[in-house]
Amino acid sequence: GALASRDSSIIIVGGGGTMGSSTALHLARRGYTNVRILDVYENPSLNSAGNDLNKIAGADAVGLFGGASDDAWVAWTTDPVFMPYAHSPGKLELTSIGSAGAKHLREKYDKLISLGRSDIAWLANEDDIRQRAPHLAQADIKGWCGLYCSTGGWVAARDALNSVGYELRRLGVKTAFGTAGTFKELILSDDGKRCIGVKCIDGTEWNADLVVLAAGAWSPVLVDLKGQCTSKCWVYAHIQLTPEEADAMRGIPTMYNDTYGFFMEPHPTLNLLKLCNEFPGYTNLQKVQPFGSPKPITISVPRSHAANPSDTIPTESLDDIKRLVSKCLPHLAGRPLINQAMCWCTDTDDGQWVVCEDPRWKGLVLATGDSGHTFKMLPVVGGQVADLIEGKLSEERRQLWRWRPGVGDPLGTGRGGPPPKDLSQVPGWRHDS
Ligand code: FAD
Repeated sequence: GALASRDSSIIIVGGGGTMGSSTALHLARRGYTNVRILDVYENPSLNSAGNDLNKIAGADAVGLFGGASDDAWVAWTTDPVFMPYAHSPGKLELTSIGSAGAKHLREKYDKLISLGRSDIAWLANEDDIRQRAPHLAQADIKGWCGLYCSTGGWVAARDALNSVGYELRRLGVKTAFGTAGTFKELILSDDGKRCIGVKCIDGTEWNADLVVLAAGAWSPVLVDLKGQCTSKCWVYAHIQLTPEEADAMRGIPTMYNDTYGFFMEPHPTLNLLKLCNEFPGYTNLQKVQPFGSPKPITISVPRSHAANPSDTIPTESLDDIKRLVSKCLPHLAGRPLINQAMCWCTDTDDGQWVVCEDPRWKGLVLATGDSGHTFKMLPVVGGQVADLIEGKLSEERRQLWRWRPGVGDPLGTGRGGPPPKDLSQVPGWRHDS
């Protein structure tokens, strides 16, 4: 049944981020009149993984997240809140001929073709790739193959989050940011069985009929999730292009390679080119006591870039990004890599969200487990959370996103490849005392 009605008071922890702001948007649009978002920072929250120049998004992610991805690109390109931020220069997903990645991409290609898609092409070799991506003319991509999709490419992430924040205020969603919006603990009913609100770090108590925890990489630090989510950081750096260099890269398809990393069109006015390497992420193991844990536990705790602005990225990540540049864009090799930052996501062991009512406390809904690829879902993920709240989520999706400690890859990567290293093992990123 439904967990709330349209006049219930609903608090969303992490409402300045991706899953939280999307949930608030869907609830407000469905006529919920008493929704309040809490966050450390106002939208677009400086701690959100989505507070970034751009993210990959497209129309080729069919069947992801229980099929919720199928509608995402349509929403990006038809909903006025999102439309201005969706860019469709096309998308290349590349790998090495004969690799496991190639087999996976070929299966994806076959599936899209069987759905009658005409915006898809198989790129069998470097010549096929260069036809779709003239900017890779000088690139060292011998032995690469992959998939091209002419629909989609990237979204202006921070601007889209900002647009959602603006729309939330227009729709009357209430807010609390700063110390009065920073979660400290849940408030429970006298019998301890029901969550009846949230206490924030300045002592403010927000009573609520329903609390949604959508705190991204901070979720398992705030409330004990029994090992279901492992928070990790990924990294990026920018190259400042000249206007001429940026013009030469306008309209290029987004390029993702499963070994080297990815980049997309430079920012339209700032002429910044964002570069990311591909790797299993880093943890930051610390002893903490999340709400609901009887004793302190050692888990990975995000380290906010906003709170630690002198942090850069590990030397080995920087080397990876240099390798991506010299491989794909050799004319930019040796250029300064600026605006280096780590950004935090939380992985589940099976790569699916945790979107369910917490079995320990009625009135607490979990909306987390983004698994490092949920930004592309911004326009639709909150609709899934709203469906759960309204008792309308399909049985299949309830099952997929249920409370499930111990389910999945015991290494906790869910990604294949080696287990993640800890930041304490990799030098180069720390510049405070
Ligand atoms: P967030 O958006 O991080 O939101 C969590 C919110 O919780 C934040 O606003 C935070 O301030 C708030 N919060 C934390 N603690 C508290 C507290 N105590 N009280 C109140 N609020 C709190 N995805 C894609 O789809 N495509 C991509 O190309 C892509 N590229 C990426 C590249 C990098 C380098 C990284 C790091 C991620 C990338 N992602 C990409 C992943 C995507 O950004 C995340 O999956 C998504 O943004 C996570 O959404 P979330 O709502 O779970 O968390």
